[in-house]
Amino acid sequence: ATAGTASYRIAVIPGDGIGVEVTAAARQVLDAVAARHRISLSYEEFDWSCQRYLAEGTMMPADGLERLRPADAILLGAVGWPGVPDHVSLWGLLIPIRRTFRQYVNLRPIRVFEGVVSPVRGARPGEVDLVVVRENVEGEYSEIGGRLGRGTPEELAMQEAVFTRAGVTRIVDYAFSLARTRRSYVTSATKSNGIVHTMPFWDEVVAERAAGYADVRWDAEHIDALAAKLVLQPERFDVIVGSNLFGDILSDLAAAVAGSIGIAPSANLDPTRTFPSMFEPVHGSAPDIAGQGVANPLGAVWSAAMMLDHLGHPGAAADIVAAIEACLLDPATRTRDLGGTASTEEVTHALLAQV
Ligand code: ATP
Ligand code: MG
Repeated sequence: ATAGTASYRIAVIPGDGIGVEVTAAARQVLDAVAARHRISLSYEEFDWSCQRYLAEGTMMPADGLERLRPADAILLGAVGWPGVPDHVSLWGLLIPIRRTFRQYVNLRPIRVFEGVVSPVRGARPGEVDLVVVRENVEGEYSEIGGRLGRGTPEELAMQEAVFTRAGVTRIVDYAFSLARTRRSYVTSATKSNGIVHTMPFWDEVVAERAAGYADVRWDAEHIDALAAKLVLQPERFDVIVGSNLFGDILSDLAAAVAGSIGIAPSANLDPTRTFPSMFEPVHGSAPDIAGQGVANPLGAVWSAAMMLDHLGHPGAAADIVAAIEACLLDPATRTRDLGGTASTEEVTHALLAQV
């Protein structure tokens, strides 16, 4: 690389269905922006997918994680396909990556852009701008538990939620630090009135950590009331921090409020930067529209912008977000999911022209 150029190795897993189409679009936009910001990106593509599972019996090779480890970041399209159970793509690829690389933050920004119609009447464009910070490696999604007396009238099933002080502390700290770069307001999702061990513990750690961020306003809301407020007054929120389960549900709800799942991005972060972080659109492989060239690439493109931000290039990331804003303003460059008729390629060209 020439002097003054930052170089990164990006592992790309296009995956299945429209994952392949939107990842290709994101790469084109990344290349255009990188050239203008003296950033050099080299890609290594991996064909790990449900197609591979159907042909070879595994989503990725046995040394898959080792092959990702040297990367500076991972760009993922989507994995999942009809006929392949969800747990295969989850446990055969996504969860091992998240856990091995200690991506304990799942970050999902949500905005209602000008030009996009939200299904929520009160969600006016430009006013909704929030981030859901989801705990990504512990909490309710544990493997601890089991079933007794299968098929009998006495059958019971139990599932343990595991919260650690270290795990809650680091996600809460991440949320409060992030809030300082935004509108300095954190909402903690809880349910300590019904879940009487783990959630009071969560609340305690939140209150303890919050004391160290005197400049950040915060409150705690029970998950049920919070879900309702997210629909009724989404503009009220800045940073929402939640456990693995609560964060999962709230981020899908908030993405729906934003108008289309096709726009929503996400980042799985190791904020310590010991391991590569992973960036992926929220949507799945969308078999119903795969191969037609009509997928909305903006979720993948915005995820790529989050990757540049994480790598230390906020200016380049902002250029991509500005291109997304411009693209959504013009009815001619909106895809079908947004009520338009533009193809993936037309949207990509519009973005390239902007950046
Ligand atoms: P997963 O289980 O991986 O979450 P899913 O089937 O639940 O997948 P998606 O694959 O995201 O969900 O598809 C849900 C719906 O949204 C489908 O009708 C799909 O066509 C549509 N959709 C998803 N992503 C896009 C996109 N980028 N552009 C246009 N439409 C999309
Ligand atoms: Mg789904």
